[in-house]
Amino acid sequence: MRFDRENGVVTSKYTVIAGGVGAARFLRGLAAAVDPSSITAVVNTGDDGWINGLWVSPDLDTVTYTVSGAIDTERGWGLGDESWRVMESVGRYASVRPDGSSAANTWFNLGDRDLATHLYRTARLREGASLSAITDEIRRAWELSLRIVPMCDQPVATLVDIVDTDGTERRVSFQEYFVQRRHGVPVRDVHFDGAADAIPTFLPDIDSADAVVIAPSNPIVSIGPIRALAGVDAALSARRNSVVAISPIIAGAALKGPADRMLIELGHEASVVGVARLYAPICSTLVIDQRDTDSVARVEAEGLRCVVADTIMSSLDVARALALTTISAVA
Ligand code: GDP
Ligand code: CA
Repeated sequence: MRFDRENGVVTSKYTVIAGGVGAARFLRGLAAAVDPSSITAVVNTGDDGWINGLWVSPDLDTVTYTVSGAIDTERGWGLGDESWRVMESVGRYASVRPDGSSAANTWFNLGDRDLATHLYRTARLREGASLSAITDEIRRAWELSLRIVPMCDQPVATLVDIVDTDGTERRVSFQEYFVQRRHGVPVRDVHFDGAADAIPTFLPDIDSADAVVIAPSNPIVSIGPIRALAGVDAALSARRNSVVAISPIIAGAALKGPADRMLIELGHEASVVGVARLYAPICSTLVIDQRDTDSVARVEAEGLRCVVADTIMSSLDVARALALTTISAVA
């Protein structure tokens, strides 16, 4: 809760633990429902990495572009009204790239307009600026008033142990799994390299929030890296009554991406009950989709309160209504 000196009004504070697309849609709805300056989005950076010499932070950019209304809504990533001339030109160099080099990457698409963001971020990193400071500069350039913070300023890499298409077991970066192999290979394990030594930037935002929302994001590879940072699960469980999650799994499936398969491959249940089990230690309330109404009792048996809502954010109206239902469940 904040007391505003000028207006004498009391405003609430909301902290949202976020991955990419699902979280970004939720944040856009929340920013339409409450004063955006009362929102802090804490965003996964485990997907980040070097692509063609540029530091790319996919989930941060998905949040920024979506809340701005500039996202390509069809793809769910990158900017609308995009062109791909640079990517086409990069292809020329693929034939001369030496073995072992990651130059002339042609499998991770970066649009011409989108490239400006990666050029800016990389230039600022090379000047020694922190990812937090740079992210805030990018937010200001897009004229957003919600706070967007990377989960930490140190690099943390999500690594995925896969069984590759040739049958060999391999440890690859998240993007080599997700984009290069189109998440079409079995996953044996997931690691968050660097998480043990990284410093979470946002513990005070968990302590001071009226409501902490775990957005509908992949529990393993989007929320997982944030939870892997020192002190985060402890801070969340200390505020458990104020923490609410939205299930990214609807009727046993992910809307998009590998979350459902990954849950099963790693020994969890791909259902709202599986999500409830993963979040029960840190979260008091789970918002599930109306298609899962049958599962309310099983969610409650895991020790969570259960709220049923329309959670498929196909429009800003649905996202705004979901945001209001979610925060009122714990605030
Ligand atoms: P990323 O976008 O690839 O970074 O992946 P995320 O971790 O953000 O999100 C993937 C998960 O979000 C999938 O399990 C989706 O089912 C879920 N998701 C995406 N959009 C929505 C939505 O509108 N509602 C709900 N409930 N889940 C969603
Ligand atoms: Ca992501």
